Amino acid sequence: MEKIKIGIVGYGNLGKSAELGIIQNKDMELVGIFTRRNPDSIKALTEGVNVYSIDSAKNMTDKIDVMLLCGGSMSDLPVQGPEFAEMFNLVDGFDTHNKVQEYFESVDVKAKQSKKVAIIACGWDPGMFSLSRLFGEVILPEGRTYTFWGKGVSQGHSDAIRRVKGVLDARQYTIPVESAIELVRKGGNPELTTREKHIRECFVVAEEGADKERIEREIKTMPDYFADYNTIVHFITEEELKEKHSGIPHGGFSIRTGKTGVNNENNHTIEYSLKLGSNPDFTANTLIAYARAAYRLNKEGVCGAKTVFDIPPAYLSPKSAEELRKGLL
Ligand code: NDP
Repeated sequence: MEKIKIGIVGYGNLGKSAELGIIQNKDMELVGIFTRRNPDSIKALTEGVNVYSIDSAKNMTDKIDVMLLCGGSMSDLPVQGPEFAEMFNLVDGFDTHNKVQEYFESVDVKAKQSKKVAIIACGWDPGMFSLSRLFGEVILPEGRTYTFWGKGVSQGHSDAIRRVKGVLDARQYTIPVESAIELVRKGGNPELTTREKHIRECFVVAEEGADKERIEREIKTMPDYFADYNTIVHFITEEELKEKHSGIPHGGFSIRTGKTGVNNENNHTIEYSLKLGSNPDFTANTLIAYARAAYRLNKEGVCGAKTVFDIPPAYLSPKSAEELRKGLL
């Protein structure tokens, strides 16, 4: 069987998880990792995997079927998405929800020009939770959708804090408000604001002499990421961050409650819940499954930007359609 040749762009948490995830997929092989840093300074987790400068990717368009873009959503992907769509099929985990459309358009133009497929905003949210919300809405049109995240580390938000001037490192925990979950579970279809549903708690390591008041203010007022939430900021040492906050667990649940019947007497609840031991491992594994779909769709002549909504589930699986019908229907 000819394997799907994968490249990884960006070697942070997600990039490392992608490297490990590819090993679990027998129909794929990892061609290399591409970084903006000096490639000689980076050693891959697995033996025999090459690390290249990001600039050399343009010379390898015939060696790679799909690029997994593993950079941060805030400032890496808006640049790298359109750039790489000019050369490769790609998949990414873009997770700035209210900028998905803008980002989609910027990638779509390039992917159509190059006749490649770019599946953006994969992962779990956006990604698997988005699918769960869609299924909930179409099956229970009379109802309400709720998404709760955490408690867990949000990589996107941690990444955003790390880009504030004077910040050395950071972890951001998203914490659902228990009383809000209780209300939803009772089936009362309560109306909840963003602020009522989650708290954002940040553990920040600042540079020596940095203006902590400014850093705290910049975090708490950051649009799209923190401005709409009650945000708590703690400054801690590098050692404490390593000791107490080095894991990257996450999870949450997406709930749709709805009513049917002559007098709306029948109540229904759809719940999709995730308990992730490692957020980047899970996210990378969804990117990998969607890479298979990008490869197949492109082989069929499809091009342009896509999201999880546009991908038929069978394209995610290494099994044939017949095998899927026998095993899963
Ligand atoms: P990281 O901060 O670990 O990595 C982001 C980029 O920073 C890397 O691609 C890498 O690029 C660079 N980098 C990493 N480590 C270092 C370092 N030590 N020194 C200098 N540069 C470094 O982010 P994550 O991998 O944790 O997350 C990436 C994105 O994934 C998030 O921003 C988020 O948007 C997305 N995500 C999406 C989810 C979803 O459900 N859709 C869920 C989780 C994450 P380079 O190698 O080129 O230097």
